Amino acid sequence: MAPEYKRIPILHAAYRAGVRLADEKIGANEVKAFCPFCRHLTKKPHLFLNTEIDQFFCQRCGARGNSVSLYAMVRGISNKAAFRELEESNLQLFPQAGPGEGRREYMAPLEQRHDIYYDLLALLTLSDRDFLDLLGRGLTLDAIEHNMYRSMPSSAQARKELAGELARLHDLHGIPGFYLDETGAWSLAGNGGLLIPYCTAKGYIQGLQRRAEIQGKRRYVWVSSNPDKCSKDGSPLYPYGTRAKAWIHITGNIHNSTASITEGALKGDTASCLSKDALYLCAPGVNAIKFLPAAVRSLSVERLFGEYDMDQIRQEQYSSALQRMQETLKPLGIPYIQQIWNPAYNGTDDYKLHSRQLPLAA
Ligand SMILES: [Zn+2]
Repeated sequence: MAPEYKRIPILHAAYRAGVRLADEKIGANEVKAFCPFCRHLTKKPHLFLNTEIDQFFCQRCGARGNSVSLYAMVRGISNKAAFRELEESNLQLFPQAGPGEGRREYMAPLEQRHDIYYDLLALLTLSDRDFLDLLGRGLTLDAIEHNMYRSMPSSAQARKELAGELARLHDLHGIPGFYLDETGAWSLAGNGGLLIPYCTAKGYIQGLQRRAEIQGKRRYVWVSSNPDKCSKDGSPLYPYGTRAKAWIHITGNIHNSTASITEGALKGDTASCLSKDALYLCAPGVNAIKFLPAAVRSLSVERLFGEYDMDQIRQEQYSSALQRMQETLKPLGIPYIQQIWNPAYNGTDDYKLHSRQLPLAA
């Protein structure tokens, strides 16, 4: 059954909880109020209510949370009970834009995404199955550890517990994958599968992809919580969620003057590992190159190689996409050379694994 979802505006929750607002408004989306948790100690308003993301934060005592937790904390009740009470009350008191209206584009800054994804990965382990699969691709133990691959739990309850643990340390608004469920608690979208970090040149985790098995086929999907995605009955699947973007993963020695472009972070990580830390730029798809020029500019490369799968560069649909990519890269003024190899080895990683296993010529 799809969860019933109702947005609880922070001003509504504050009003119902008896939080006194100050006569100050800071910017379009912030209202100052007297903190209910430290108000007997101070006569100044230290509480910030953000009406765009429905969060509160006290500058003085550090209390923070969302509409539901504000109300729950003041009333000394559970989040679930607080949500029910707020939901039953008249939400029209403070009418505001609903989810998706002017708030859908909010994405937490890179540093925050990195911290949260890093902490998420630190809470997870790599299953034996995924570990053996990575070894079989040709990745070394060092590379497997360094690249922080993890296995995502397939149980929704386990993912909810992870999100709950992270929510105690971080604000999860604007982090693709996380959303508020019907009880007002954070949860993590997705399913089981291998998690693959997409990193910047400096090693910040921008986003995560998950290797899913859909109808026996492996697919790479973003860890994402698109707030516009609805169930069949029209209710949002991921309230307050954030959709992932087509980030470019950078792997290998960032000081190299030559870089290769390939499709998929795991393929790039593997190819890099098999060729002495060669530098790779990995796009999530051949058409997903919006951030490719910026990724190239973040490096100091003088030459680019295209290392796309052999079966794909022969497809017309694919070769026109490659053409578009070359057009996109042209303004950078960096020579681009499309690589080809024995088509018996489709991906650059397959080819590199094979050539490494060939006996060295005398
Ligand atoms: Zn306070």
